[in-house]
Amino acid sequence: MGSSKIFKLFGAALERLNAYMVSHNMRFSPVREMVLEQACLLPQPFTATQLVEACVSEHISQGTVYNCLQVFVDAHILHATERQRGRAAIEYELISGTQIRMQVICQKCGRVSSFRDPAIERIIRERKYSNFNLQHFTLFVYGECRRCKTKKIEE
Ligand SMILES: [Zn+2]
Repeated sequence: MGSSKIFKLFGAALERLNAYMVSHNMRFSPVREMVLEQACLLPQPFTATQLVEACVSEHISQGTVYNCLQVFVDAHILHATERQRGRAAIEYELISGTQIRMQVICQKCGRVSSFRDPAIERIIRERKYSNFNLQHFTLFVYGECRRCKTKKIEE
């Protein structure tokens, strides 16, 4: 990812954070901004552990990072997805502008993959809500992945 793209991501995320803090009467926190910047610099998606490691050089504690992650999720800056790779883990990803995401989740092994469906995206973008301005959208599709299906046949 180029530095100008990261700068844009951080700017948009910061704007969302400031709006959230104002509406929730939260105090400005330079540490929170630093954590947010580190989150923007990480390859997406990332885990809490990766963010904690990235924040070590800034002398930010693990507790603070976890705290910030919760705020970022609540403020819809980050999207949290539970994934299973051996054991359950939550992965975080920055929500950018007017993103439309589709995620396919295997109920057997927990594998998550993202895909795009232009026809569905078009329908969602064209929807108009009188009292609501759509910003981002995630569609979760649950089922069985090809790998699990193949395994079942082999057994
Ligand atoms: Zn599966």
